[in-house]
Amino acid sequence: MPHPREDALLADIEGRRDELVALTQDLIRFPTINPPGDAYQPCAEYLGQRLSKRGFKVEYMRAEGSPGDSDAYPRVNVIARWEGGRPGPCVHFNSHIDVVSVGEGWTVDPFGGVVKDGKVYGRGACDMKGGLAASVIAVEALIDSGAELPGALEISGTADEESGGYGGVAYLAERGWFSKPRVDHVIIPEPLNVDRVCIGHRGVWWSEITTEGHIAHGSMPFLGDNAVRHMGAVIDELERRIFPTLSAHQTTMPVVPEGARTPTLNINSIHGGQPDVTGSGLPAPVVPDSCRIVLDRRLLIEEDLDQVKAQMRAVLDGLVQTRPNFRYKMRDLFEVRPSMTEPDRPVVRLTCEAVEQVLGRPADICCSPGTYDQKHIDRIGKLRDCIAYGPGILDLAHQPDEYVGIDDMVNSAKVMALSAYALLTGKA
Ligand SMILES: [Zn+2]
Repeated sequence: MPHPREDALLADIEGRRDELVALTQDLIRFPTINPPGDAYQPCAEYLGQRLSKRGFKVEYMRAEGSPGDSDAYPRVNVIARWEGGRPGPCVHFNSHIDVVSVGEGWTVDPFGGVVKDGKVYGRGACDMKGGLAASVIAVEALIDSGAELPGALEISGTADEESGGYGGVAYLAERGWFSKPRVDHVIIPEPLNVDRVCIGHRGVWWSEITTEGHIAHGSMPFLGDNAVRHMGAVIDELERRIFPTLSAHQTTMPVVPEGARTPTLNINSIHGGQPDVTGSGLPAPVVPDSCRIVLDRRLLIEEDLDQVKAQMRAVLDGLVQTRPNFRYKMRDLFEVRPSMTEPDRPVVRLTCEAVEQVLGRPADICCSPGTYDQKHIDRIGKLRDCIAYGPGILDLAHQPDEYVGIDDMVNSAKVMALSAYALLTGKA
């Protein structure tokens, strides 16, 4: 049986539908494109001013010295905190304010905040200004409900998630903003669909492999040593010895889509030989003396990154033994460990219950194939009580004519409010 106060809260959020749409439109109209990191400051200030009028203590943190930060493109983050009447836990809603570039194929103004057929359109509507707006409405309604709330509610708008989060959540986490005792539960309204609670993500290892050869005239390749042929041997080994082994690993992580429940490997790029500087399509007639590939290996929670690296190195060292003149270099470019919150943690359990209460069907618990800012909250903030839950449809993120459904936003705001209420009042 829902509590009468919960019923009133849900009805109140329903009544804020137009306000939620208007807030989403306003947020979309800041063209916070990353890179380069445009309009972060006005967008953060807009959010800060709104929340400060409602009794939040608002702080701005510029991530000085982080990648891309400059006076022209300051990495501005906003954190707003509302204190309840007595001590208690803190529930934090974190959204990134940056969006990816617009790209081709739009039929509406990507920064117009167009409303059509029950949807708000725009770059970032789904990923994730709709989710940010829903969390703001949820928290404001909860505060206005007059419920006697202990603890604290926080809302942050952070920079640079689309480029790794170093000027955003990572920067703040390093300074204690995402750790106990300041924060107890974090909900990230990323677009994972209104009925899904995302408890974590797979890990990532990007590495660069370079093969080396010896330059010579293309008419006399026997005088040189072809680095592209050496790389061909590397790719052949990947096909024979790495790719077939990937499907042998299955994970307990509920990753969606299901194809991502094994490790995956993408050969991201390959470059070899001299660049075609004239643009004629006729490169210099030489034997390529170097070739480079970039690999994108995604990891399951059950895997050990050091072992994954060692397996790759063993394959390459095998070629050193068997292939004449084979030399290589392997360099780490980027790595993120997998992260997964235990499904029985209160933030997971109570958000799932709230989904069922609002939508009348059970929530799906899932993990994301790619990473998001949870990695920093887990690794740097040492906080495991983190989920992603938001209204957008994942497949629409980064697409032309990106949109967020208004019903989904209203429903997700209801879920967020119920979940925060339960987390604060110890229904856990
Ligand atoms: Zn996102």
